[in-house]
Order: sequence, then structure tokens, then C-alpha cells
Amino acid sequence: MNQKQTADYIIIGGGIIGCSIAYNLANQGAKNVVILEKGEICSGGTSKSCAISRSHYSIEANVHHAVESVKIFENFDQIIGGDPGFTCTGQIVLGPEKHRPLMESVFSTQNKYGSETQILTPAEAGKLHPLLQFEDVDVIGFESRSGYCDPYLTTSAYAQRAKDLGVTIFTDTPVNGIRINGSNKIIETPQFDFETPVLILAAGPWTHSLGKMIEVEFPYEIRKHKVLTLKIDQPYEKDWPIVKDLLTPEKIYFRPDSGGVVLVGTGDQGDAVTYIDEMTDEVEMEHIERIGKRMANRMPDFADAKLVRSWTGPYDIPPDWNPIIGPVPDLEGVHVAVGFSGHGFKLAPTVGESLAQQVLGNEPRVPIQMYDMTRFETGKTLNGAYGIGTFA
Ligand SMILES: Cc1cc2nc3c(=O)[nH]c(=O)nc-3n(C[C@H](O)[C@H](O)[C@H](O)COP(=O)(O)OP(=O)(O)OC[C@H]3O[C@@H](n4cnc5c(N)ncnc54)[C@H](O)[C@@H]3O)c2cc1C
Repeated sequence: MNQKQTADYIIIGGGIIGCSIAYNLANQGAKNVVILEKGEICSGGTSKSCAISRSHYSIEANVHHAVESVKIFENFDQIIGGDPGFTCTGQIVLGPEKHRPLMESVFSTQNKYGSETQILTPAEAGKLHPLLQFEDVDVIGFESRSGYCDPYLTTSAYAQRAKDLGVTIFTDTPVNGIRINGSNKIIETPQFDFETPVLILAAGPWTHSLGKMIEVEFPYEIRKHKVLTLKIDQPYEKDWPIVKDLLTPEKIYFRPDSGGVVLVGTGDQGDAVTYIDEMTDEVEMEHIERIGKRMANRMPDFADAKLVRSWTGPYDIPPDWNPIIGPVPDLEGVHVAVGFSGHGFKLAPTVGESLAQQVLGNEPRVPIQMYDMTRFETGKTLNGAYGIGTFA
């Protein structure tokens, strides 16, 4: 029989979400907090993340979380401690005429929460990003407080600060079973059985397998998200704005990365994945060529860009493309944070803070009740006005 350990709070998953929750629980006074991680810290979806933090969302709650979270990234060392590698670049959003009313309404919601967003002329935008062409663009928005982090540095900083506050992190510790015995939950791993009254599931795309252990089907599917890095023969500055191009069918986005390369992703639905552990990093040539053409259209200097690297990562996506955060219905003391649909990195600081407040019986500073799992039964789903995709 396995040795038994007890904890007051157990979090399964050591990605950005699990580490942020653990840090915030401990920072709010919780004792005896444990993270169980099957691999290393930041070895799941977070390790593939482009780690962009921007706040252009048609769902107001997402704007609120994104803006409050970027305030934390901006002052990470003072607020959390450590260096997330945040580079403030701002984000340029390029849109067609049909999106003008929606974009303007989002800009005003962003400004309500402090994101400092404005509409630019092509000449003004060209000063911020000299390689862009705007001939086919009708609306240019600019949010000055966006940027990008290093996903590994950020997650490790949360993990380190959590440890400093007394959290115990078990890596190489896969959870193979969960038994619910009244208010007690027994969590089975190869080394120990852990007993806890409060269990938080933050296993990203793997949360389905934990759901099976407690007979709960979490409503999300897994889809592939492909990323390319491209390089041209001239400098691409590391503080040039992130660009979101709503004129492309794939709603591409791109941002600078270290070494003068440009990292390009898409905001579309992505290919379905049946088994998460069978997913590979492969990106098809057709995708590389198609996205390469979109980049060359937006930045003619990219006509001869070279591919440096490509990879694929998993998105966990609920039917409305918004996360599921809060108590698991009918299971006292079990909470979940899953289904981040490509938004999880930028929302992690306040999601961790607010979920910790909710778990400890306090009012979340940034509300999270709209992300409750019951919304799929009550019909209060969070459907974004831009339709399917990460621009929810
Ligand atoms: C290619 C790509 C680009 C992205 N770009 C952005 C972006 O620019 N901006 C943004 O905001 N978001 C982005 N995202 C989304 C964001 O990165 C994710 O939403 C976020 O990282 C999810 O974090 P997580 O902690 O929920 O999941 P994960 O990082 O997947 O962590 C879950 C952890 O649980 C562990 N685990 C699983 N099963 C078990 C088990 N049985 N026992 C113990 N441990 C277990 C896993 O090993 C893993 O470490 C992107 C995602 C991808 C894939």
C-alpha cells in the first residue's frame, strides 16, 4: 500500500494556471498547499505558448481579466516577485469595415478598464511598425499596454514564489486515480496517496482524464494550434507591436521573438485532436506556405522570409471558447480551471487570484462567476461577437 500524505489543498497540474492558483492560495494565507505535476513545471500546453498578453475581447469579463492581468505582468517583480520576461510592445489590430462597430465598442470597453486603446491612421501605425502595409485595412486599433512574456520564466516565477510561501510541488508525480470519500478526496500517485478536503483540477487539455476518475465530463474539445517562426534579412525589433490581422481568413497574429525572428500563429478553430498524448509537433507544408503568403501580403519584406522553426500545441476549447472556472457541480470541495482556448496565459494572473479567493470563501477581486461550468445548462454561455476562434 502507498504511503499516505495529507494536504489542505491539492492542485493537479503545474502549468501557468496551476502555479498561479497555488501561489495565490498561499499568498492569501492558505497553508499546506500541494501541486501534483506529472512532468516538470511548465511542461504542458504552457510550454508551447506564444505568451501574448492583449485585451481586445468582445466578452467584457475577458477584457477585465486581461487588463488586470497585464497590470500584474507590468509590475511582476513588485507584486509577485521574479521576472516573467515581459516586453511591452502594444498591439495593433487590423480590421475590415464590417468589424468597425464591434471594434469600436471593444476599444471603449478596454478603455473603461484602463487598457489605453485608440484608433490610428495608417501613417501613425506605420511609425510604430514600419514593415506593415495598410492598403486593404479599414480600421486600425492600437492598445498600448499589450506585450508578451516568456512562458517558462513566468510559470517558474509563480512556482518559486509559491514554494517561498510554503507550497510543496511534486514533479514527476502523475495522478492515476481519484477516490471521493465524503468530504475527503484520495488522490493516487505512484509514490503516495494524498488525502485532501479541497481538490483543484488544472491539468489543461489532460483534464478529461481526471474527469473520468470522478465521473464528470468536462465540456471541452482539444484542437491543434500551429506556430511558425520566420526570419528576414533585416532587423525586426523586439518591441515592435504585436499585430492581429482580422483581414486574413485565419485571423493570424504575429509578434517579435528573441533573435530577431517573428512568431506567427492563427486565431482560427484548428484541427481536432482525439488523443492528446498522440499529438506531435508536426506542421504541414501547406500551412507554412499559406501563412507565409499572408505574412508577405501584410509585410512585403517577408516575401523571402525563411522558416526558422515550427511547432504545434494543444488548445482546450469549451463550446463557447471561454474557460470553465469554479466549483465542479455536485462535488463539494472540487474545483476546476480548464478550457482556456488560447487565452490562458494572459488571464492566468487574475484567474489564479480570483479562484483562490473563491476557494477560500472570499469575494473575487475580478469576478469569475460568469465562467462557472453551469452556464452550459443555464444557457448563459459566453459567445464572442467575432465568432469561433481566439478573438472571443
Ligand atoms: C501554441 C500555443 C500558443 C498559445 N499562445 C497564447 C498566447 O499568446 N496568449 C495566451 O494568453 N494564451 C496562449 N495560449 C494558451 C495558453 O498557453 C494556455 O491556455 C495555458 O498555457 C494553459 O495552461 P494550463 O496550466 O491550463 O495547462 P498546461 O500548461 O497544459 O498545464 C497542465 C499541466 O497538468 C499536468 N498534468 C496533466 N495530467 C496530469 C496528471 N494526471 N497528473 C499530474 N499532472 C498532470 C501536465 O503535465 C501539465 O503540465 C497558447 C497555447 C498554445 C498551445
